[in-house]
Amino acid sequence: MGSVQIVTTILAAAITAVAVWLAVRAVMKMTAVIRLGQPAPERFGDKGARTRKMLVETAGHTRMLKWSVVGAAHWFVMVGFIVLSLLVLEAYFEVVTPGGGLPIIGHWTIFGLATEWIGILGLAGILVLMGIRLRNRPTRPGGRSRFTGSTMWQGYFVEWVVLLVLIFGFVIRGFKVATDHFEYPVWATPLSHAVGAALPAWTAGVSVAALIKIAISMTWLIVISLNVTMGVAWHRFLAFPNIFFKREPEKAAGSGLGALRPMMSGGKPLDFEEADPEKDQFGVAQVEQFTWKGLLDFSTCTECGRCQSQCPAWNTGKPLSPKLLVLSLRDHAYAKAPYLLAGGGKDLTGEEKATAAQLAHVDVLALAEAEKPLIGTAGEGGVIDPDVLWSCTTCGACVEQCPVDIEHVDHIVDMRRYQVLIESSFPSEAGVMLRNLENKGNPWGAPQNTREDWTKGLGFEVPRVGEVDDFEYLFWVGCAGAFEDRAKKTTRAVATLLNEAGVSFAILGEGETCSGDPARRIGNEFVFQMLAQQNVETLNEAFEGREKSKRKIVATCPHCFNTLGNEYGQLGGEFEVVHHTQLLAHLVAAGKLTPVQPVDGGVTYHDPCYLGRHNRVFAAPREVLGDSIQGELTEMPRNSERSFCCGAGGARMWMEEKIGKRINVDRVEEAMATGAKTIAVGCPFCSTMLNDGVNGKGAGEQVEVVDVASVLLRSVKPDAPAGEKETESVAG
Ligand code: SF4
Ligand code: SF4
Repeated sequence: MGSVQIVTTILAAAITAVAVWLAVRAVMKMTAVIRLGQPAPERFGDKGARTRKMLVETAGHTRMLKWSVVGAAHWFVMVGFIVLSLLVLEAYFEVVTPGGGLPIIGHWTIFGLATEWIGILGLAGILVLMGIRLRNRPTRPGGRSRFTGSTMWQGYFVEWVVLLVLIFGFVIRGFKVATDHFEYPVWATPLSHAVGAALPAWTAGVSVAALIKIAISMTWLIVISLNVTMGVAWHRFLAFPNIFFKREPEKAAGSGLGALRPMMSGGKPLDFEEADPEKDQFGVAQVEQFTWKGLLDFSTCTECGRCQSQCPAWNTGKPLSPKLLVLSLRDHAYAKAPYLLAGGGKDLTGEEKATAAQLAHVDVLALAEAEKPLIGTAGEGGVIDPDVLWSCTTCGACVEQCPVDIEHVDHIVDMRRYQVLIESSFPSEAGVMLRNLENKGNPWGAPQNTREDWTKGLGFEVPRVGEVDDFEYLFWVGCAGAFEDRAKKTTRAVATLLNEAGVSFAILGEGETCSGDPARRIGNEFVFQMLAQQNVETLNEAFEGREKSKRKIVATCPHCFNTLGNEYGQLGGEFEVVHHTQLLAHLVAAGKLTPVQPVDGGVTYHDPCYLGRHNRVFAAPREVLGDSIQGELTEMPRNSERSFCCGAGGARMWMEEKIGKRINVDRVEEAMATGAKTIAVGCPFCSTMLNDGVNGKGAGEQVEVVDVASVLLRSVKPDAPAGEKETESVAG
């Protein structure tokens, strides 16, 4: 060992010792913070499916590749990081001796070949990612950026470290080539040989370059260890457990879509018949009341801003960004942690749990952080502003896009639950809806005995369950379908088509009550459970003696469709639920409905969030429309998985939209820009919102908003009486 190697070895060992010590401390701190969360025993089931999903999503980059260029570049950087970590290890041999290398595999040509090409592709990948970050920097003139609010220096730092580590990997190899210490052939390692041809034959260069590479890598480790909230770096490690512990690993798409996570206390679903607010946790009022998985979610956020770029609230000027919400919760959790780890915290009655002696040595900043209300205005020092909390439509675009499977909607609704159930604090206009649900069983407060009024004048009998011996489908009409004028036309169109196709169906009539979706999404789990239990009982009675595959329900409202199909199981109701567009597509394909007259003028389709993103029904409505117009749909730029919300979900239908541009207007402008004369929808709330948007723009003469069923009916029965068509509803 020469003098240069003695110095490089000592320096490499010193910086590595410091970095490893800091990293161990950081990992222990993060683990302690995450363990502050509430139990979530359900996250440990089905380890096989969890492992499979984690491997598919990480190795296959299935979620990242939805954005193909970024996804591909990130894949090479990720693989580069994992495989080239071996080359960082190899650098420790190279600081000791210029000819050093990894034992055994370091002598294999295949190792040289693989690391060479992964290094080259990693270089290309990181340059692409750097270019994308620069092109989307928040400070660029004009336009909104998905990186707005992200900690930009951290992103640049991580990218430069990756770039420099890769470059120095080739410099080390270059010096080895130049000094005849390199054993891989030119065909396997062309770039290394090219670099070597340009470098002098300086033997010590290998050890010096190896030291620089180690120093850069360890500086990275030191910086991230001193910044435990640096998700852009830590996600390299945390993404694996975060994906492994996702809510429903067997699901093809986002685990936090479809059913909401039930309201939990102490790791068990809360039963309102026995719940006690002084003993049980009602939603989330303190950051430590999220589960440990919630705290892991917050720690894992990469600050990539994909969620933000798709959020309808953020894109229309509301203060909500799912990314900023997650970052606020993360920063608050870590800032409050010293107080919590010292034994601090409030019990469920609001009393301090720690003694003065326990808190005596806690940092004043942590004590001040602990005093912040989780939900509160800036003036109150709140972590999350109420306007942020109530702007969410629960559309799920954030969950759909998040590459590390963060479950934003569950977290938002958990915070709403406490605000509604304990604080009675929510937008006042939604109070009418909740009172109507409690007293009348529907959000509009319409008399229950008018639930069947839509059947009048149909020209055929619509039987009630109990009046017919047998029926194949129970037609779940929904509150909108029964009471709202425009939606009633859809209900009539569906009934007419089912009758035409010879499908035997029956309704519950006055036995039906609201599915409970708006109550659950606003956070009133009590009202949801009350309505849901009543419906589950009614439906179980209606299907008595039938196995699950014969307990078929067809629903026109995607919110009912989602609640009945995905959430009633939590309360003992197992049914086979289809959306009407799925059943209609099946009937057309089976030849039981025959579109005869093409609907002209061009049709575009707006995917309802709870049908599309939350339940992956993208094809059926498009098939029905394609058959009806006997041609191609005109798609909007934001469609299918990336569809843009109408603004009504998450009980926003019953709240005023006072901030920013109206979401429905934004969507209508996009739909009208396609030039289509018909905007087809598959949801009564989308219908209302988009109709309002069209009428608000004074465009009622140019464009019409109608349900997919009505479009089909026009094609199947061009002479159907006016009452069965939805066209008139805009005026009516
Ligand atoms: S669910 Fe939709 S509205 Fe709510 S934060 Fe996510 S993207 Fe935004
Ligand atoms: S998409 Fe996920 S990782 Fe990216 S900023 Fe949003 S929450 Fe964070």
